[in-house]
Amino acid sequence: MNELLQLLKKFFGYTSFRPLQAEVIQRILNKEDSLVLMPTGGGKSICYQLPAIYLPGTAIVISPLIALMKDQVGALIANGIPAVALNSMMQEDERQHVKQFCMQGKVKLLYISPEKLKSEIDWLLPRLDISLIAIDEAHCISHWGHDFRPEYTQLSILKERFPNVPIVALTATADKITRTDIVQQLKLRNPQIFTSSFDRPNLSLTIKRDLSKKDKLATIIHFIYDHKKQCGIIYCMKRNDTVQLVKELATYNIKATAYHAGLPSSQREKAQDDFINDRVDVVCATLAFGMGIDKSNVRWVIHYNMPASIENYYQEIGRAGRDGMKSDTLLFYSLVDQIILRRFAEESGQKEVNMEKLHRMIRYCGADVCRRRVLLSYFGEETDHDCGNCDVCKNPPERFDGSVLVQKALSAIVRAEEHINMKMTINILRGSDRTEVTEKGYDQLKTYGAGKDLSYKEWKEYLYQMIQLGYLEVDYTRGNILKVTPMGSKVLYGDMTAQLALYKKPDDLTIVKRRPFKARPIRPISADSIEETLLDALNQLRKQISEREQIPAYIIFSDDTLDDMVKKKPVTMEEFSEIRGVGESKQDKYGKVFVSLIRFVLKLPKL
Ligand code: ADP
Ligand code: ZN
Repeated sequence: MNELLQLLKKFFGYTSFRPLQAEVIQRILNKEDSLVLMPTGGGKSICYQLPAIYLPGTAIVISPLIALMKDQVGALIANGIPAVALNSMMQEDERQHVKQFCMQGKVKLLYISPEKLKSEIDWLLPRLDISLIAIDEAHCISHWGHDFRPEYTQLSILKERFPNVPIVALTATADKITRTDIVQQLKLRNPQIFTSSFDRPNLSLTIKRDLSKKDKLATIIHFIYDHKKQCGIIYCMKRNDTVQLVKELATYNIKATAYHAGLPSSQREKAQDDFINDRVDVVCATLAFGMGIDKSNVRWVIHYNMPASIENYYQEIGRAGRDGMKSDTLLFYSLVDQIILRRFAEESGQKEVNMEKLHRMIRYCGADVCRRRVLLSYFGEETDHDCGNCDVCKNPPERFDGSVLVQKALSAIVRAEEHINMKMTINILRGSDRTEVTEKGYDQLKTYGAGKDLSYKEWKEYLYQMIQLGYLEVDYTRGNILKVTPMGSKVLYGDMTAQLALYKKPDDLTIVKRRPFKARPIRPISADSIEETLLDALNQLRKQISEREQIPAYIIFSDDTLDDMVKKKPVTMEEFSEIRGVGESKQDKYGKVFVSLIRFVLKLPKL
């Protein structure tokens, strides 16, 4: 293992393994099979890349996403590791060249798409000295998974042809059926299954419910201003919303681009490319976006609408903070979202399953306990402590006896013969003189005006809570009217009390327009801003190199690596080599320029 640790430092610039990495690697060196379940950003790649470097011969990596393949090969080459890709997107002469290169034994890792594997299994592969086989995104093999790929079902041939080569299958999707499917279909021999925690403690979790469109936009602008110079994704349910949002953001000087399945592929590619290369800060996208993206420095994800399931939600927020650094997520949800998603679920052909998934998602949004605990328990993991990094932990709800409020609301609903929706209920409670209230005679009800003391927003909040607590239910089949449940009746007639969470006024949402996030010129140094100045300068340098070499900035150095530079302020080449994420190749290539810049910012003489 010592030797492996040295290789880890030499090629990747890391000094220790993440949980389970060493164990998985040992297993491969023993020529044994394994299945690795780790969340996105958990560090799956090292599990096969390091033994590939260590062992003689070439490692075969099966990967379904061509864009991701390109990214991974690029990252390996940047670290001085000979890696190539073989897929159907390449030109024939390029493919021939790659094959030659492989046969000369010069390649440590060969990334290959499943369809290319099929055509090369009898030709190229038998001519190689294969050290190990890694199957990335292994859940694609299963019909149960969310991303089934027919080409993946032919992978059983690998074990038949290369019975003595260890196979490692890796995925971030972990349910039991998928697991069994992977093991069976790949014909893994006595595989050890490694499962690491699915927790992503670096992601903060915040949920806001039912804001008006205007407030939603204002919240987003504030959020983006608070994340200046950091990039993120806004997921929308509707294509049109992505385009609309981009326009709105532009008026606030925020550089954004839209991405949805209805756009021509050239436009989608451009959007993706602009995002990867930091030419835009924000992508407003439908769910189609993100599959092939390995960008490690996505700093935030916003859900403009509620996702259809917790799996989707977790996968989407998981695109933030792959480098392990602090990242923020924000989800908006509303009754309207719920209604639309219900319809999708009902029409989906898998009604029961999808309705159940949606229910779990709705419950997650409405939960008033630590959100991370709810998420982890959904994935079958138990935790014994609150996370401290979700909105509930940071701002725990204050409870009060809300029995009287519940009684007022429920009584209004009963007196209106359970024919009214949320809006009408609030209007009656607040004694509104709108015609739709008076023409039905609701102004004659005893409860008319009984809740004048609360604002519209407050009532809306409390009615939501009453639904969540099970005192009311929404009849989606009849214009979303509200109905009193048996438990609600108990509160109404004084047989039970109701605890509600106190409504808190949302933050001030007025927006002060700010300047676009242009990198600032290096300013004179004052003691408290030196770190900020240094980070700015390092970011600019990384961007310049990225543009010159035409590789994404995060492949040159991750945000985490820049962060370590700011903390340790290396001013000699030797100190620079100690930085997390600086291996020998990057030290040689970039060490000098970065050290010079750091010395310049610190006002030290040139080396
Ligand atoms: P996954 O494939 O599981 O989503 P990656 O393999 O892309 O995750 O790793 C996520 C991030 O963690 C990458 O930036 C990677 O360089 C970093 N990483 C992996 N292993 C280590 C380690 N042992 N020490 C520090 N950083 C690591
Ligand atoms: Zn929490």
